[in-house]
Amino acid sequence: MGYHLVRALEFLCPVCRMADSSKEKIIKGIEEEFEGRYPIRPIAERDDKIEEDLAKGIQKNLELLHRYSRPDHLSYYEEILTTSIRVNELKLAKEEERKIIGIFCNFVPQELLYACDSIPVRLCAGTYETIHPAEEILPRDICPLIKSSLGAKLLGLGYFELCDLVIIPTTCDGKKKLGEILNNLVPVWMLELPQKKDIGSAEGLWFDEIKTLRERLQQFTGNKITGKRLRDSIELLHKRQEVFYRLHRLRRHNPPPINGRDFLLITQTGFYDDIDRWIEKTEGLCDELKHHLQPATHSSPRLLLTGAPIIWPNYKVLNIVEEAGATIVADELCSGTQFLYEPVEPDEWTDEAMLRAIANRYLLPSTCPCFIESSDRIDRLLSLIEEFNIDGVLYHLLRLCQLYDIELYRIRQVLKDRNIPMITIHTDYSQEDIEQIKTRIEAFLEMLSNR
Ligand code: SF4
Ligand code: SF4
Repeated sequence: MGYHLVRALEFLCPVCRMADSSKEKIIKGIEEEFEGRYPIRPIAERDDKIEEDLAKGIQKNLELLHRYSRPDHLSYYEEILTTSIRVNELKLAKEEERKIIGIFCNFVPQELLYACDSIPVRLCAGTYETIHPAEEILPRDICPLIKSSLGAKLLGLGYFELCDLVIIPTTCDGKKKLGEILNNLVPVWMLELPQKKDIGSAEGLWFDEIKTLRERLQQFTGNKITGKRLRDSIELLHKRQEVFYRLHRLRRHNPPPINGRDFLLITQTGFYDDIDRWIEKTEGLCDELKHHLQPATHSSPRLLLTGAPIIWPNYKVLNIVEEAGATIVADELCSGTQFLYEPVEPDEWTDEAMLRAIANRYLLPSTCPCFIESSDRIDRLLSLIEEFNIDGVLYHLLRLCQLYDIELYRIRQVLKDRNIPMITIHTDYSQEDIEQIKTRIEAFLEMLSNR
């Protein structure tokens, strides 16, 4: 890094009193984070057949859902996920010089992104069709979520193509190397997570990381994150969490007013859509659901879903389970309830307190298995089992995701001690194992009904 450039920026930049290493990092953010001396040369090309197959899979999911009587408000979420409405809106936003920032996982504070007038979109992908192109670069023996996400970029599909920048937290090994590869195609910043979640780590590495991210975003977007802007963003996201929590709680009712597939459809529309519109529509949906609650009955088995993320349109396991007569009434997925669960709650509205509250919120409640200890995840599962009156647990494992696989033994043991039945489904994004999964799920549901 040129000394003169650093000195020149000190006059302009609000971080001039930071340690030299932090300055280096911010300045790298303006330019690039990776050295990239040996770039990869991808050859995947856009293929209409892939998009046709993708559209067919989406259509099949919708046909299954449309066989049930569903709330009118759901048409909005379907429209966002199946048409180019939002993509076109984002293109317009780009023309107005707003930055579109792609994020992975649940660790990138959206409050900071909104406060610098950028637009976040979550890029973790659930499309089987984009896996094969990614296997040109990635080994076959790697989690399908990673391959699917890279494939979406290689093929230039959807939201990925609009991103000016992608931020990836250093969670599992796959995500770390995905960052290095993607950086050949779009600027990537890695967000360094601590290995442990305790406050000591948060105050050190993680809090500094969040402060540095704020400075880098200011530089990247050219918009200063003032105290007022940050407070406004925190309050905006509070509104989103409030309505999400209202929807989440409605699922405690028996029978639940909404099934698990629709719940994920609603949640994951929030990955991309305009946040004000999502809040307004979800408030309307909650009102509609509240007026249509049915009298309490002994309904279908109530399942809790945990494990590796399930992302639209990869509804294979959900379709099998809910078509077999069970309902997923709660989940612990990072692509489900975890995405919108906790609010940021500063003790006071000072800059320092807001940033600290943001750092805590994005680290401490996370039950991602990338951290050393899994007790928090087990506590969350037990509390959901009680709150949602759960009959059985569905543990979703994506092949080659070691983290969730390693945590399985301990969780199975805890649930067995409490006499809570659990089924483990080990799968990927392909359709080849549908019949085998169906047979196992049916046997599990029969066992639940005989208890
Ligand atoms: S489980 Fe953790 S690492 Fe995997 S996608 Fe979710 S937040 Fe990211
Ligand atoms: S499913 Fe597992 S391997 Fe895949 S991105 Fe998430 S944590 Fe990493």
